[in-house]
Amino acid sequence: MQSSLTPFRVAVIGGGPAGLMAAQTLAQGGAQVDLYDAMASVGRKFLLAGRSGMNITHAEPYVDFVTRYGNSSGALRPMLDAFGPQAVRDFVHGLGLETFVGTSGRVFPTDMKAAPLLRAWVHAVRECGVQFHMRHRWLGWQDGALRFSVPDGGEVVARPDAVILALGGGSWARLGSDGSWMPVLAGRGVDLSPLAPSNCGFDVAWSEHFSSRHAGEPLMTVAVIARDANGQEMRKQGQFVVTQGGVEGSLIYALSAALRDQIAAEGSTTIWLDLLPDLSAERVADEVARPRGARSMASHLQSRLGIKGVKAGLLRECLSKEQFSDEAQLARAIKRLPVRLVRARPIDEVISTAGGVRWDALQGTMLKAAPGVFVAGEMIDWEAPTGGYLLTACFASGIAAARDALAWRTAA
Ligand SMILES: Cc1cc2nc3c(=O)[nH]c(=O)nc-3n(C[C@H](O)[C@H](O)[C@H](O)COP(=O)(O)OP(=O)(O)OC[C@H]3O[C@@H](n4cnc5c(N)ncnc54)[C@H](O)[C@@H]3O)c2cc1C
Repeated sequence: MQSSLTPFRVAVIGGGPAGLMAAQTLAQGGAQVDLYDAMASVGRKFLLAGRSGMNITHAEPYVDFVTRYGNSSGALRPMLDAFGPQAVRDFVHGLGLETFVGTSGRVFPTDMKAAPLLRAWVHAVRECGVQFHMRHRWLGWQDGALRFSVPDGGEVVARPDAVILALGGGSWARLGSDGSWMPVLAGRGVDLSPLAPSNCGFDVAWSEHFSSRHAGEPLMTVAVIARDANGQEMRKQGQFVVTQGGVEGSLIYALSAALRDQIAAEGSTTIWLDLLPDLSAERVADEVARPRGARSMASHLQSRLGIKGVKAGLLRECLSKEQFSDEAQLARAIKRLPVRLVRARPIDEVISTAGGVRWDALQGTMLKAAPGVFVAGEMIDWEAPTGGYLLTACFASGIAAARDALAWRTAA
């Protein structure tokens, strides 16, 4: 057992939500903590998340909450049991900020912004005694020491007792998380899954005619039917946006893991749109078949079913002339319009990434290949939909890595 008089010196590399949480927990546990980050300030992706209304967690029942991590639910469960959705809210309240639950169950800071939260949090982390070292890019190890490049072109080394890596995934490289740690850890014998886009949009080969008229238009009430990982149909209702070259938005992101994997395996995949999810197929068929006199089919659809704008454009885009003028086929297509997705959007622009350090490379959060090195956050191989699940698991794994490091030291 180490003497409690000898300080336990820990380097936390990466100052996103996972690293900040790890650093704070370690310092509160008595460790002497140095936090390194490649950027000039911490939490840049966290701040970006706040621009579109930051969900910090989700208020659905916990039994449902933990299933949102799919295959990683089992591995994350102990971390989430220790620091789950209510703990996240209590943590934010403890920083002097309020939270509220939106109609979708997502939990937001009251002003929906990340900046006040980050400011209060960094202040609290500093108060615990954590030393911040900005513009220190971790390059790997040399003779057991950590190597960092610093702005003057030089390098510094550090030899802490333990290391927590919280280096993020591989999207939005300009905010710091560029996945450059992947070859470093591979070189150390750590088992990794390739980084892949998650919570992403997809490319569709829209005609110039369609995209020039409808790019940027949201579909507010729509359902998407897609195949899940087992080939079973899943149906989700919500909203998405038609883009210049495809589709994006919360409804698409929610299905994106399965769609990405299908495209990787099959070259493309198909989703089916229900343009009128609140009306039955029979009702739609009846309305389409009503006599329309001299009216065009387009104005008939608008007056009987309210189909106009981007929804009307999609029918024109995805159906042949013959299908559009055949009432039975048109009615069926309104409830199940096929759209072929050809590509996931590039990894750098997506909300999060799948892949990274595989669970079987870990003992708890410690790398089996590198005792005394722990990992946290998005760099571990898990993924989850948007809605606060990402941040909750980053916070929880940051705390778990810090506690594992403290326990490892005690056992040493
Ligand atoms: C547009 C957008 C909106 C989002 N909205 C939400 C939301 O509302 N709710 C939600 O739950 N999640 C949201 N997310 C996802 C969430 O922000 C991330 O999952 C989370 O920030 C990941 O935390 P992390 O600590 O693992 O990594 P990061 O936040 O990526 O932090 C990693 C840190 O490591 C540093 N780093 C990387 N490599 C090195 C190196 N070699 N040397 C030194 N430092 C290094 C980086 O500079 C960075 O500071 C959003 C993401 C985006 C892009």
